[in-house]
Amino acid sequence: MSLVLDPPRTLREVLEHCAQRVPLYRGVGAPREGESTDEALARFPVLSKEGMRRAFPHGFVPEGQALPELLRSGEVALVGTSGTSGERVQVLWHQPWWDAQELEGFTAHRVCAEWVRRKGFREAVLTTPVCSGNLCHVGALPMEERIEGERTLFLNQTVDPGRWSDAEVLRMADELERFAPHALEADPAYLAYFSTRLLALGRRPVQPKFIDLSYEFPSRRHVAAIERAFDAPLVDAYGSTECGFVFCECEHGRQHHNAAWSHVELAPLAALPGVALVLVTPLRNPWLNLVRFDTGDLVRPAQGPCPCGAPGLTLESIEGRAQDTLVAADGRLVTLRSVDRALAEVRGLLNYRVVQRGAREVELDLVGDGTEELELARAQEALTALLGCEPRTRRVSSLPVEASGKYRLVRALHVDAATLVRERP
Ligand SMILES: [Zn+2]
Repeated sequence: MSLVLDPPRTLREVLEHCAQRVPLYRGVGAPREGESTDEALARFPVLSKEGMRRAFPHGFVPEGQALPELLRSGEVALVGTSGTSGERVQVLWHQPWWDAQELEGFTAHRVCAEWVRRKGFREAVLTTPVCSGNLCHVGALPMEERIEGERTLFLNQTVDPGRWSDAEVLRMADELERFAPHALEADPAYLAYFSTRLLALGRRPVQPKFIDLSYEFPSRRHVAAIERAFDAPLVDAYGSTECGFVFCECEHGRQHHNAAWSHVELAPLAALPGVALVLVTPLRNPWLNLVRFDTGDLVRPAQGPCPCGAPGLTLESIEGRAQDTLVAADGRLVTLRSVDRALAEVRGLLNYRVVQRGAREVELDLVGDGTEELELARAQEALTALLGCEPRTRRVSSLPVEASGKYRLVRALHVDAATLVRERP
C-alpha cells in the first residue's frame, strides 16, 4: 500500500527526501550535520534531460511506492514535455502541486495577482493543440468539449497557425466572446498570427484582463503584432513541464523568481559574460524528484533591485535556449534574444527563422504581416551587423512548425551550441 508522502518544503528537506528515498540519488548522501544546504546541494550531480530520460520513471519513484498504484489512484500521471524531438522528457505529474505553484507564480505581476485568485477565474488558451500538459485538442470538437474544469478553454484545433482558415479565426474570436476569459494564455507566435488575421478581417477581439505568454520565447515582433489587436497587459511567464512556473515578469519587465516552489541556481558562463544557465530544484513536490535540473535555458540576472520592490532573485531578461545560440564570424556567441532584438524594428515582419549551417553560412527566412511592406533589406542588414556575415535572406509565405507545435526562431546547426555555451575557458 502506497503512502501519500508529506511534501518536502525546504531545499534541505528536498535533498534529504531525494537522498534517502529516490533511487536516482542513491549514494549521494543526505545533508550532514554541520554541512550547509548549499554545500550539500553542490554534492548532487546536475541532472540533464538525457539523464532524466535514462532514469525515468523508476529512478524517480520514491522507495516504498508502487508506480502502477500511484497512477491508478490519480496521485500522479505521466506527462510528456512539449520539447522538440530529441529533448522530450516525461515527468511524474502531480496536479495539486502544479495548480498551487502556478497560482503563486502569477503574483509577481500586479494585474495577474489581482485576478488569478478570484472565484470564477477563467482563462482561454491559444497554443498548439498537439499537447498542452496532458491534453490534446486536434480536430473539430465543440467548444463545450474543450473546456476543462469549467475554467480553461482551449481555442486552437489546428497544428499550423499559418494554415488557419478565416472561419477558424472567426470561430476562435466568437468563442473568446462567449467564454469572456479573465486571462488569455498564449504561445506568442500563435497569438501574433491570430492578432494579425483578426485585424485583416476587421474583427476586434474581446479584451481579457491580462495575457500571459508561455511555451516559447516571446519575440518582439510577435509582441508588436499582439499589441495591435490587444490592449491587455502582456506578461511573460517562464516555466516548463519539468519544473513548473519558475519566473514571472512584473509590470517593469523584469522576471521574478517563484521562490516558494523552486530553488534556482544561476551557473555563470565564461563564454557569455553576464549570462547564466538556469538549474532548478522544485520544492514541495514529493513526486517530481529533480535536483539541479539543467533547463538548458539562458538568462541575464538583474543588477540591482527592481522598481516594483519584489525581493529575491530577479532577472533582467530571458536569453533563450543554450542550443539556440549562434556563433558570429568573430567567434562571439549570440543568444536568441540578441537575434530577436536585432530584428525588433523591422517593419512588416510577423515571423522569422534564422538557421546557421556553417561559420559564415546563415539563412534568414521572413514572413510578412501583410499590413505594411516587409523591410527585407533592413532585416538582412541588422543580422549582418550582429553576426558579421551576410545571411541568405528570403521572404517566405510560411515557416515550419516543429513536431512539438513550436516555431523555432533560431536554429544552430553547424556547432553543438549547447555544449559550446557551457564550455569552460
Ligand atoms: Zn519587478
